[in-house]
Amino acid sequence: MTFVVPQPEQAAIPVQGGGLYPVRRIWCVGRNYAEHAREMGHDPTREPPFFFAKHADTVAPEGGVLPYPVATKDLHHEIELVVAIGKGGADIAEADALGHVYGYAVGLDMTRRDLQAEAKKLARPWEMAKNFDHSCPIGPIVPAAGIGHPAKGAVVLKVNGTVRQQGDLSQLIWSVPETIAILSRFVALAPGDLIMTGTPAGVGAVGPGDGMEASIEGVGTLSVRYALAKARAA
Ligand code: MN
Repeated sequence: MTFVVPQPEQAAIPVQGGGLYPVRRIWCVGRNYAEHAREMGHDPTREPPFFFAKHADTVAPEGGVLPYPVATKDLHHEIELVVAIGKGGADIAEADALGHVYGYAVGLDMTRRDLQAEAKKLARPWEMAKNFDHSCPIGPIVPAAGIGHPAKGAVVLKVNGTVRQQGDLSQLIWSVPETIAILSRFVALAPGDLIMTGTPAGVGAVGPGDGMEASIEGVGTLSVRYALAKARAA
């Protein structure tokens, strides 16, 4: 049988040292740093993590110039450690979780904050706030075989050279093994699944022409810039 419309391109991210990591699904953890929970008006208790998703084709490459998104007047950056699953499984035990990780990367969970605020107010899904074209810039995947499993390290996002977000992986409310274990109780994970682990405090707006440099100590860097023009006329 042949496909009746053009087959979608397989989303993929370059791996440091060679090869491509195929992206299947992108799972995102909400509110995983206490200071960020506070800045968003929530009490950072250790309530169970919650998850939302971005489509694989929202991935945008390192070093690129992105079209500025439509339908927002308040586009926010969220720097996050990205976990790339290498071995699938359901109901993964926390003690086994890191054995399911292929590698890590630096990512940006770009957010149309105005649409998210409206969705929260109306108790609607977050999709249009989180899961839009080019909304997930991700740097090269770095194999855990080379760097191990970072549990601490500075997380820094600069916009046009000025530090906006600063945190440390040690401040994650739910660690990477805990997050994998809990997420795998809700969905069976598979190779190609990415997990965005949440963002530290300091989220804020970026506009057309702004450049973002994201870095996570022990993992790597990611830089992307927004074009001056919008993706298309609003
Ligand atoms: Mn996020």
